[in-house]
Amino acid sequence: MEIVVSGIRPTGKLHLGNYFGAVTNFLHMQENYNTYFFIADIHSLTTHPTPEDLHGNVRQVLAEYLAMGLDPEKCALFIQSDVPQISELYTYMNMNAYKGELERSASFKDKIRTQPENVNAGLLTYPVLMAVDILIHKADYVPVGKDQEQHLEMTRTFGRRFNNLYGVDCFPEPQAFSRTGKLVKVPGLTNQGKMSKSGGEGDAIFFDDEEKVTKKKIMRAVTDSGPTEPNSEVSAPVQNLFDIMDLVSKPDVIQHFKNAYSDCSIRYGDLKKQLAEDVWAFVAPIRERIVEIKSDDKALAKAAQTGADKAIASAERTLKEVREIIGFRRFY
Ligand code: AMP
Repeated sequence: MEIVVSGIRPTGKLHLGNYFGAVTNFLHMQENYNTYFFIADIHSLTTHPTPEDLHGNVRQVLAEYLAMGLDPEKCALFIQSDVPQISELYTYMNMNAYKGELERSASFKDKIRTQPENVNAGLLTYPVLMAVDILIHKADYVPVGKDQEQHLEMTRTFGRRFNNLYGVDCFPEPQAFSRTGKLVKVPGLTNQGKMSKSGGEGDAIFFDDEEKVTKKKIMRAVTDSGPTEPNSEVSAPVQNLFDIMDLVSKPDVIQHFKNAYSDCSIRYGDLKKQLAEDVWAFVAPIRERIVEIKSDDKALAKAAQTGADKAIASAERTLKEVREIIGFRRFY
């Protein structure tokens, strides 16, 4: 079966955009591929989190992904730092990654600009660690956003360079994973583009939000003054509400409001009320599961251990081969 690797940022509090834009893809992938999903806690050290924050965030993210349907029996959902082989391969691969090419990485240049007070070596070699996350499982595919394409290209470069240096065919070249069908972009509620954590107060619907908060955010969403002519074009902020409705509401409900827009009888208050109900009906059971799993130490331990076992087995297979290739051959 083809292998897919994907990282998960250990910043908790997922919102509807994450769910429909990323998690649904994961759910599809775990059914059809040999998948390795890792919570990138080593990567996050570049920003120096406190131990409590780091652990708390990993716990939150693990609980959220489990609650949303990632199944430890179907995929390898693991925490990056539970797999020491990753750090070992990172050390080896750093020897063949060059300062010039690392400095040219767009994300590194970005960090120099945004946090000049903390340009650490981990940031410089971030693409090497990223490459290792992928190469260590000999991934065929990586689901990447536009901003990550350069990292994937660097991953191929590092893998190819290793193969050429030693005259081996150890690492395959991973490709960007694109699922057929259209990419879902969930709009935010404040009409500033896609729903995002950094979109300001009221932009995103978090699975962590209570019922009152969730509904209030929707009732306060930006709209316009209403259609004045039949079949007029829908303005961007209203289209955003329809787009979210498309994801969570029943087809007849969606049709009802689209018709009401077309014949100008729509009342945005009713639209938002319905949307608030439907969003809450969607979010509430997942939210409940997150709370449940987060406080269930046994369930978290079992999931993390199952994931680590699978990832370690795969990583150790590659590492064994790599050590032999490099010339680390044991005398005992
Ligand atoms: P982030 O933590 O914001 O970088 O997002 C994690 C993942 O969720 C990425 O793969 C994004 O593509 C996806 N994502 C975040 N926001 C949205 C959104 N509004 N619509 C669709 N996908 C999103």
